[in-house]
Amino acid sequence: MSVDGFLQRLRSEGRIVVVGASLAGLRAAETLRAEGFTGTLTLIGDEPYEPYDRPPLSKQVLLGRASAEHTALPRRRAIDAEWRLGVPATGLDMAAKRVRLADGDEVPYDRLLIATGVRARPWPNEAEAGLDGVFVLRTRDDAVALQRRLAEEPRRVFVIGAGFTGSEIASACHERGLPVTVAERGDAPLVGALGGVVGRVAAELQREHGVDLRTGVMVTRLEGDSAGRVRAAHLSDGSEVEADVVVVSLGATRNTEWLAGSGLGAGPRGIACDAGCRAFDIRGIVTDDIFVAGDVARSPHPLFGYQFLSLEHWGNAVSQAEIAAHNMLSDSVDRRPHMWVPAFWSSQFGVSIKSVGVPSMGTEILIAQGALAERRFTGVYGYQGRVIGAVTFDQTRWLEFYQHLIETTAPFPPPFPTVDRRSDGQRPLPADFPDPSVPTHGPTVTLSGYSPADRRITFTPGRH
Ligand SMILES: Cc1cc2nc3c(=O)[nH]c(=O)nc-3n(C[C@H](O)[C@H](O)[C@H](O)COP(=O)(O)OP(=O)(O)OC[C@H]3O[C@@H](n4cnc5c(N)ncnc54)[C@H](O)[C@@H]3O)c2cc1C
Repeated sequence: MSVDGFLQRLRSEGRIVVVGASLAGLRAAETLRAEGFTGTLTLIGDEPYEPYDRPPLSKQVLLGRASAEHTALPRRRAIDAEWRLGVPATGLDMAAKRVRLADGDEVPYDRLLIATGVRARPWPNEAEAGLDGVFVLRTRDDAVALQRRLAEEPRRVFVIGAGFTGSEIASACHERGLPVTVAERGDAPLVGALGGVVGRVAAELQREHGVDLRTGVMVTRLEGDSAGRVRAAHLSDGSEVEADVVVVSLGATRNTEWLAGSGLGAGPRGIACDAGCRAFDIRGIVTDDIFVAGDVARSPHPLFGYQFLSLEHWGNAVSQAEIAAHNMLSDSVDRRPHMWVPAFWSSQFGVSIKSVGVPSMGTEILIAQGALAERRFTGVYGYQGRVIGAVTFDQTRWLEFYQHLIETTAPFPPPFPTVDRRSDGQRPLPADFPDPSVPTHGPTVTLSGYSPADRRITFTPGRH
C-alpha cells in the first residue's frame, strides 16, 4: 500500500493508543480528533481519575482554596475515546504492536503515544517513608491526604528539598500559619533551576516569611514514635527537627519501568525521541509508530545546541502532545518539529516567578531590570556570548521580550540599555549553578559486539 493509502486508512479506521491519561495524553487525544482522526482511540491511565491539572495541587489545593476533586482539566472538544482508567500498562511488544495491561488484557495499536509522565521520588528508606505523616506531592490523592493533614494544624511541617514544589509547599504552610522547616542539600532554594544569585533571593524570601530554612544539609534519618507516626528528622549537621508532618520533595522519577525489555530507548531519564516526537529504540534508531510527549519525553532542541531536553513544564506537555498527535497522522514532509521554548511559572510567598529558555545552561546572569534586593527583577542568563534564558520575579510583562532574544540568539550581555537598569545590572555575575560534574547516579549504556550486525546495547538504570 502507498504511504498515502496507509495514512488515509490510519486516519479513518486506524487504532491509536495513548498510555498516560493526564495533560499530555488528553491534549494529544483532542488534537487527533481535531485533525480528523475517526478511528479507535484508547486512553490508558493507571490513576482512577479522568485527566486533572497538577499545578493547583501545590498552590490552591494546599491552601484549601480549591478542592482536589475540582481540578479536572477542561475539555477542548469531545474525544470519543475508550477509557481504560485505574489500570497500568505493564509492557510493550513492539514487534506485535501491543500494549500489555496489568489486568491481563492486550491492546493492539497502529500508532502509540507514550505520555506516562513522572512520579514523585520517594524517601529512599522504605520503613521511614511508610511512617504516618510522611507525604509526597504529585497526584490528586497525595494532595487530598496532605491538605487534610495540614488542616489538622500540625505543630511543624518539615519539607525535604527546596526545588519549586518544596518551596511552594513551604509557602502554602506559611500562608496557613503553620511553622515550617525546609532542608535543602544545595546552598539555596531553587539553586538547581535558577542558580545561586537568584537562589539567594529565594532564600531571603523564605526566611523573611518565617521559614526555618536549613541549607547545605542532608536529612539522614526520619524518626517515628511507638505508634508509627513521624516524630523528627535528623540532619547531617547533627541537628534534629521535631515535626509531625514531613513532605518529601526530592524531584521526580520518569515512569518508564513498564517499558523494560521492550527495546525502546527508555530509562530513568525518560524516553528519547526526535524533534518530531518519534521514540528512539535502544539502538538509537527512530521508530515510526511510537511517539512520546510530556514530562516523560527527552527531545533535542536546535536552540539549545541540540541537547536532549527533559522538561517538567505544563506548557511543554501541551505543545509536545499537539505536535506528536499531528505527526502521528502525517506523512514525513508534513511533520512538524517540537520547538517550544521552555517556559515555567511558580508562585510562592506572594511572588510570581517565571522563566523562559534554559537558565540552567547559563554561566552568567545579568540583572537587566529591577533589583535583587527588592525581589522585583529580571535576570538574563548568558551562555557562550548569547542569551540562553531569563527569569522574572514579579516582572512577568518583560518575559516575552526576553523570549524573543533567546529565539534570535541575541548576544549576551544584551548590548542595549533597558528601562529600570540599576547598579545590580552594570555587569554580569557568575550564575553560580551547582557543579555539574558531581555524579548524579544516572543510567549507563554499555556496548558489546564488534560488527554492525552483532553490536548490542544494554541499558543499566541508575540507582536513586
Ligand atoms: C504539584 C505540582 C505542581 C506543578 N506546578 C507547575 C507549575 O507551576 N508550572 C508548570 O509549568 N508545571 C507545573 N507542574 C508540572 C506539570 O503539572 C507537568 O509538567 C504536567 O503534569 C505533565 O503532564 P504529563 O501528561 O506529561 O505527565 P503527568 O501529568 O505526570 O501524567 C502522566 C500520567 O500517566 C500515568 N502513568 C504512569 N505510568 C503509567 C502506566 N504504566 N500505565 C498507565 N498510566 C501511567 C500517571 O499516573 C499520570 O496519570 C507541576 C506538577 C506538580 C506535581
